[in-house]
Amino acid sequence: MSSFVIKPAIRTENITYAVRDIVVLASEVAKTGREMLYLNIGDPNQFDWEPPKHLIEATYDAMKKNLNGYSPSSGIKQAIDAIAIEAERKGIKNVQDIFVTTGASEAIEICLTALVNDGENVLTPTPGYPLYTAIQSKLQTIENPYYLDENNGWQPDINDIKKKINSKTRAIILINPNNPTGSNFSKETLQEIVDLAKEHNLVIFADEIYDKLLMDGKKHVSIASLDSEVPMVTFGGLSKNYMVPGFRIGWGIVSGNREVLKNYIEAINKILRARLCANHPAQYGIAPSLLGDQSHLEIAMKKLTRRRDLTVEAMNSIPGISCVSPEGAFYAFPKIDNIKSDNDWCSKLIKETGVVVVPGSGFGQVPGTNHFRIVFLPPENILEKAYKAISEFHLKYMNE
Ligand code: PLP
Repeated sequence: MSSFVIKPAIRTENITYAVRDIVVLASEVAKTGREMLYLNIGDPNQFDWEPPKHLIEATYDAMKKNLNGYSPSSGIKQAIDAIAIEAERKGIKNVQDIFVTTGASEAIEICLTALVNDGENVLTPTPGYPLYTAIQSKLQTIENPYYLDENNGWQPDINDIKKKINSKTRAIILINPNNPTGSNFSKETLQEIVDLAKEHNLVIFADEIYDKLLMDGKKHVSIASLDSEVPMVTFGGLSKNYMVPGFRIGWGIVSGNREVLKNYIEAINKILRARLCANHPAQYGIAPSLLGDQSHLEIAMKKLTRRRDLTVEAMNSIPGISCVSPEGAFYAFPKIDNIKSDNDWCSKLIKETGVVVVPGSGFGQVPGTNHFRIVFLPPENILEKAYKAISEFHLKYMNE
């Protein structure tokens, strides 16, 4: 055997994805025969959730009609028309382009790739979804983290954003409703961000993949509904609202001033053409999902609200742990006081109890704080068991 070892590209060095990385440790623990309780992956289909039947049937029909070839690079007309109707319902102003992608993930990657050069930076929420950090590592651009304020229901900290904008800042990312905190941003906060984007010529990337998963009768405000001039891309998809993350169907809606956007839209479309298209038959599920019966959402939100309440109550009853109540999505992000390392706490929790949660540092945290992310999609009996185990474990951990 030669001693030759392939040297991977430097751009891969900082790529981490804690949500899946933690699974490696969990798999080792599972091999020992311990019962595992997985509260780490935001995939509804692993538990008692099902997508609407009409979405599955439309996709299956497309396959049977042999619509299995490539589609246009931006997506099929039927889907784009349905997304345009959805954009109008969301109040998005001045829509300039719509494209269908391999999950919202691909839309996000394409839009960042088409915008940011070496030495430039993008304001990125902290805590936030790690895909944004991973893409920026890959592009070798500079991540410019801004904080969400736990003391203000995890709303973006406007003063922090103001401090972090510099001459090389090109865009700001918003995840609303948020992963990992479940917060839903107020219209006032969003308006302040629009004003800052206007002042500094920033593009707004609005990740609204959870926009239909809101609790307590809360309404979602799409930031692109607040202004017709600021360049924005709103990301959405079928993964969460329609519970088919494995279909890998998402989209981007570009809105704002046409003149300002024209070259950027062309750059996005160049990349779209180079990667051919998103899954063709699955695109036939978009129109039935967006325009068809939505009753699965009402049922889902009742169930999710019960699981959210159970989660928040259980976490807030553990001394040294506190949890802001999430208003959307299916995540909670409890804080642990007086520990040195969230990674140590989470790995010991997995080893000693089989409960799998993700360390807060996988999403970024305000320095000096420690958190962990819970996915409260599992049924109540699993959540109750897990929370009892977390409570007993934490008591023991603090006394060690
Ligand atoms: N954006 C956020 C905030 C997410 O939490 C996720 C998945 O967890 C995604 C995007 C990925 O979406 P998709 O499955 O459409 O690629």
